[in-house]
Amino acid sequence: MASRPRHDQNEPSRMERLRCTGLPACDGYEQVVACRDAESGLCAFVAIHSTALGPALGGCRMWPYGSEEEALSDVLRLAQGMSYKHAVAGTGQGGGKAVIVGDPRSDKSEVLFLAFGRVVAQLHGTYITAEDVGTTADDMVVVRRATRHVAGLPIEQGGSGDPSPITAWGVFCGIQAALRFQRGRDELQGIGVAVQGVGHVGYALCKYLHEAGAELVAADPHEPAIARVRDEFGARVVPPDDLYDVQADVFAPCGLGGSLNPETVPRLRASIVAGAANNQLAAPGAARLLARRDILYAPDYVINAGGIINISYESRGYDQAKARQHTARIADTLTHIFEQAQREGITTAAVADRMARQALESA
Ligand code: NAD
Repeated sequence: MASRPRHDQNEPSRMERLRCTGLPACDGYEQVVACRDAESGLCAFVAIHSTALGPALGGCRMWPYGSEEEALSDVLRLAQGMSYKHAVAGTGQGGGKAVIVGDPRSDKSEVLFLAFGRVVAQLHGTYITAEDVGTTADDMVVVRRATRHVAGLPIEQGGSGDPSPITAWGVFCGIQAALRFQRGRDELQGIGVAVQGVGHVGYALCKYLHEAGAELVAADPHEPAIARVRDEFGARVVPPDDLYDVQADVFAPCGLGGSLNPETVPRLRASIVAGAANNQLAAPGAARLLARRDILYAPDYVINAGGIINISYESRGYDQAKARQHTARIADTLTHIFEQAQREGITTAAVADRMARQALESA
């Protein structure tokens, strides 16, 4: 790291907190901190991109990053993404994110999450943490012992529980909006959907689609996950790399990010891409490739906002029905984006980014 530590004497003795704000990479961010705690082994970064619309709400990712630079660059990218997601979803929250450097399978401990909780506490509510890749609602219960600025707790603890089913519900509404825009009707009976990744969100999406009469083709390298959708929903199963070539109406990326790139986009035989995965476009150029092939792309952070919409309702006294109604409005937002992109001859991704920037600037 290029910055020098500025140790605050009021902080716990072994917690080293570095302000990264001021580094060129952190330009445009309100606050970025790096924390190392010798006692617990915590190495974490928190990035607050914007609180213009409200306190920054974003999950805490735990990942075995190869270096601290890699962790910092990930948290910066993710925090900005959260600002855009909240801005377009109208949650009244700002964008921020945290990452913990470590392997979630072997490096988790109570002292680690308590130390992380103290870091969050020191940000005095400008950042609210939650679960993310590598962390769970149970980890957040431990974090809660050190700070009240935590969301995504289990329902028994007054939280909103697992966000995956409502994320899937938002994606389902988004697929209907895409079908309505492209074909004039949102009937799913007989519509072929290729689902890439059938984990938490992908499984719940398959359930909604199956109940609506869609024909599923699914791929996932995790055998128990794929067996479940084959047995429960009659999904046709193909090897992960073959899914791009499958004849389907909709391609739904619900696995890892970056699946849409110059190699995969030309192979797609679906006319709609609409799924839950974050960062689906390997590079911004992928949105233009999709548009050139007349494939309607539902921008990832717009269609997958159900989970964060759900969590945002915790701060006002969680109400599942209201969170679900709000999530269903993803369909209206997408319809507006599709229409605007068509009118202006630009990509749907460009329209979404512009909407987000405008919302942030006007705040
Ligand atoms: P998950 O880990 O439960 O499921 C992901 C699944 O994708 C796994 O079963 C994995 O085996 C599979 N997978 C990995 N590589 C694959 C490949 N090449 N082809 C096919 N399948 C592959 O994660 P999740 O919570 O279901 O989230 C899925 C995606 O949605 C992630 O990108 C996540 O960031 C995003 N997302 C999730 C939520 C949520 O509420 N959980 C909210 C917003 C966005």
